[in-house]
Amino acid sequence: MLVGVLALQGAFREHQKALKACGVNTVQVRKPEQLDELNALVIPGGESTTMGKLLLQFKLLDAIADLGRKGMPIFGTCAGLIMLAKDIIGSDQPRLGLMDIKVERNAFGRQVFSFESELDIPPLGAKPFQGIFIRAPYVVDVGPGVDIWAEYNSKIVCVKQDNLLAAAFHPELTEDIRLHRKFLEIVNIEPKCI
Ligand code: GLN
Repeated sequence: MLVGVLALQGAFREHQKALKACGVNTVQVRKPEQLDELNALVIPGGESTTMGKLLLQFKLLDAIADLGRKGMPIFGTCAGLIMLAKDIIGSDQPRLGLMDIKVERNAFGRQVFSFESELDIPPLGAKPFQGIFIRAPYVVDVGPGVDIWAEYNSKIVCVKQDNLLAAAFHPELTEDIRLHRKFLEIVNIEPKCI
């Protein structure tokens, strides 16, 4: 089993660390020919407009979108959530457009570019999850096939749709690997987390 972490920019090393703690092999993905060997892909936080341009430049955008449509599990965090969205308010930036969600970028306002808050994510159990938000987006609207996994102040910040999982916050910056482990359940890997 091999999980790729898109490594064009952003917090990809931290995702690799979390996935390794779950007992799976990871690889940094920068080329389309690497995609064939993957069982799943993680798209990290970063800057979604830059990431979109780089995805086009490296000929990864259509290739990843195709695999996602065919059912490859993809987990996007923060900018990764934006990349997964069909609809980005006020922007025509390149995106994968796989999830039936409408997102607003930098949505928590200038005064709180970054903050932390405990989140209730029922699929992860009763223990709260520490949400680290860095110039985070939130989800404004979801289609019928999308499950809402978490909200912060009535704003949707974690969603799942079939093979796709997306979080507006940064689980890879905490020591809590429950969300990565949950993603690996989607991938059908028997998680061996410690
Ligand atoms: N604000 C960034 C964007 O719009 C996302 C921030 C992040 O990934 N931490 O792309």
